[in-house]
Amino acid sequence: MQTIDTYDFTGKKAIVRVDFNVPLDENFKITDDTRIRAAIPTLKKVLEKGGSLIIMSHLGRPKGVTDKYSLKHIIYRVEEKLGVKVQFADDCMKADAQAAALKPGEVLLLENLRFYAEEEGKPRGLAEDASDEEKKAAKAVVKASQKEFTKKLASYADCYINDAFGTAHRAHASTALIADYFPNDKMFGYVMEGEIKAIDQVLNTPARPLTAIIGGAKVSSKIGIIENLIDRVDNLIIGGGMVYTFVKALGGKIGNSICEDDQIEVAKSIMKKAEEKGIDLHLDRKVLIADAFSNDANTQYVKNSEIPDGWEGVDASPETFEYWKGIISKSKTILWNGPLGVFEIPKFATCTNKMAGLLAEATENGAFTLVGGGDSVAAVTQMGYAEKVSYVSTGGGAMLEYLEGKELPGIKAIRG
Ligand code: AMP
Repeated sequence: MQTIDTYDFTGKKAIVRVDFNVPLDENFKITDDTRIRAAIPTLKKVLEKGGSLIIMSHLGRPKGVTDKYSLKHIIYRVEEKLGVKVQFADDCMKADAQAAALKPGEVLLLENLRFYAEEEGKPRGLAEDASDEEKKAAKAVVKASQKEFTKKLASYADCYINDAFGTAHRAHASTALIADYFPNDKMFGYVMEGEIKAIDQVLNTPARPLTAIIGGAKVSSKIGIIENLIDRVDNLIIGGGMVYTFVKALGGKIGNSICEDDQIEVAKSIMKKAEEKGIDLHLDRKVLIADAFSNDANTQYVKNSEIPDGWEGVDASPETFEYWKGIISKSKTILWNGPLGVFEIPKFATCTNKMAGLLAEATENGAFTLVGGGDSVAAVTQMGYAEKVSYVSTGGGAMLEYLEGKELPGIKAIRG
């Protein structure tokens, strides 16, 4: 398999799928350029090695050509970070001449791929009451033109790099299908390589003990991960709103805490499986409860199974945290996904924020720590620990699916 370190880019044009889907304010100024910064090492490497770049990305969820979602708004930042002038093709299907004229060291950015329905391969503009037949016919039309779309993108370049982990779980033209046109000239960028390596290390070759901390609101959205991890971890810590579905499954009294009644059987089967496999499953035993979802609510600490009506669990307790700390400090590999409380409300954010610090400490003591999922990533970043854990995954949905053990189309297209 090719990598950007081994591939000879001299005189080659590389088409690179990046994730420049950055948030913009009402004046089209970038409010967080993390994703642009993340792609820079890959882009610079190609230029340093004598290649030229055709960069492609999506921005937002346009339903057609929409000025608001034009990638022209972000050119200034790409130029600033790359230190090179960036040419712009305002129609990603009409960049032949610009691509052909690119010289080594030059950069061309294509307009938002999602201005075309073919990028995602999903029909647009279907009437809400369209019949199944009509939907099927419309899909067939887009799928047919998707081939031409993909072929056109591929025709601009000599090699293909995928560095957009955030869309690796989608089988889109630019994230997966295009790879077929470069059987011997396709590779991952550094972002993709880093994400894959970090998650593989946790799933396949962890130093033990391996501890997973899974939080967040819903069992239903984390069940795939839990089921995949339960065969691999030594300790499973469950925190956040998910806990109360487990507590109810055990017959506890959870007051007004968040609970998914339709997941109670699932919770029971997870606990049974953990027991059978000899895995230690640690629920948030003593919790902070509140009588309202607000920063000036009344609060108290109680056992997770003794929550009075009118009160709900909103964070872990110092006692639970100390107990978790004991487990984490003995662990050699730690995965954290999902907040341990309603961390958007400062009063209920204590344990989520403290967990960020604990993982930084564990990393300093030699553990491999992987943090993923929007809220846990926000917590480590806000607390200033993003550089102090081993890896922060920005993959979102792609990371979840990879942790669930699913094969991601963007990875398969390159690895085969
Ligand atoms: P998820 O997207 O599943 O990772 O869930 C994240 C959300 O879970 C955040 O918005 C948290 O506020 C929420 N959450 C965490 N703990 C609780 C809790 N005890 N009660 C209600 N929501 C919670």
